[in-house]
Amino acid sequence: MKSSPALPAASTLRLPFSPSAGLPETAPLLRTDRKTLAVQLRPDGSLVIRAPRRMKDDEILRFVRSRETWLRQHLDRIRAEREKRENTERLSDEELKRLARLAAQILPLRVSFFASLVGADYGRITVRCQKTRWGSCSSQGNLNFNCLLMLAPPEVRDYVVVHELCHRLEMNHSRRFWAAVERVCPDYQDHKKWLRENGPALLARVFG
Ligand SMILES: [Zn+2]
Repeated sequence: MKSSPALPAASTLRLPFSPSAGLPETAPLLRTDRKTLAVQLRPDGSLVIRAPRRMKDDEILRFVRSRETWLRQHLDRIRAEREKRENTERLSDEELKRLARLAAQILPLRVSFFASLVGADYGRITVRCQKTRWGSCSSQGNLNFNCLLMLAPPEVRDYVVVHELCHRLEMNHSRRFWAAVERVCPDYQDHKKWLRENGPALLARVFG
């Protein structure tokens, strides 16, 4: 009986997933003396296919395709975990300086934009990296912002800007104050909630 020709022990397999699946496009294919086929998802999100020596590519591809849902679910989990890890890593001094520079460029532009909408004037703008507050407004109208705001979504950042500017109208958190915030920032409740839920994790990246 004629045996089938030897297939390369190591090659690269073009994977049968649609580009929108978010799965890798290729994977190393390793043929060894094993009996079964295995699709292995590595912690970095890449795939390795391990196959018996003589198994044909199309049979391998059929199997890989049948694992698509499983792969997608596991890859989503790996990505979510990686994102969580990245978002809780301690910031280096270098990164903090970069954030402070960015904040000093961007926040004054947002303040100037929203000041006319709020109908308020303001004094000096300072950016600091602080443990307890996202922003403040002095009785002279000087505004201070936390540089960690640059790690928050832009709409949350804008809410803090609007919040501090509205203190130029109302130096308190009265119903009139919140009405002024809402006029310019109708979704402010969502942004407050975001800060309440995610703010501590942001602060922990410096002060944790
Ligand atoms: Zn306030």
